[in-house]
Amino acid sequence: MNKITIGILGLQGAFHKHQQLLERLSVGTAIIRYPEQIKQCDGLIIPGGESTTMTKLIRQMELFEPIKNFDKPIFGTCAGAILLSVDANDSQIDTFGKIPVSTRRNAYGRQVESFKENICIKGFESDFPAVFIRAPKFTDIDSSVEILSSLNGEPILLQYKNILLSSFHPELTSDTRIHELWLKNMSV
Ligand code: GLN
Repeated sequence: MNKITIGILGLQGAFHKHQQLLERLSVGTAIIRYPEQIKQCDGLIIPGGESTTMTKLIRQMELFEPIKNFDKPIFGTCAGAILLSVDANDSQIDTFGKIPVSTRRNAYGRQVESFKENICIKGFESDFPAVFIRAPKFTDIDSSVEILSSLNGEPILLQYKNILLSSFHPELTSDTRIHELWLKNMSV
């Protein structure tokens, strides 16, 4: 792959794990904390964490508009997926509305109800170990959004144009296939 830089929003949450995984794939990364950094990125990851806290920090750091206007590939995991949706059904959260789905936070229950499950993903030859931590559920999914994986009838991995959303945390496993799938969107 040509030299690319993937920005990882590093205000809060599981951003280092994404960085470690991309480093294993020899992909350049930048931890994003300031608006002017966004322009240098070929893609952007919005990690898991706490979407209410991230909303506050995004506003504080004046990152809302630059992220909303970013038109290159984006990958949102868990809280990141919540932020990228159209509606998080929560007045404390400002969503970017980048993908025509809504989200329901903490829809699988509390921290103690977090779980790991081997899931089947469209196009993958074997199961993927998915870690769910206070995961959201996706609702009101527009027909233009491709569902790449579901668990017990609930969509958990979505693709829309160059945007990928997972309700789980692929960065917490040693399996790099979901990140590699998303990196295929890079046109550089
Ligand atoms: N429950 C968190 C939220 O609503 C998301 C949890 C996570 O990212 N693991 O923001």
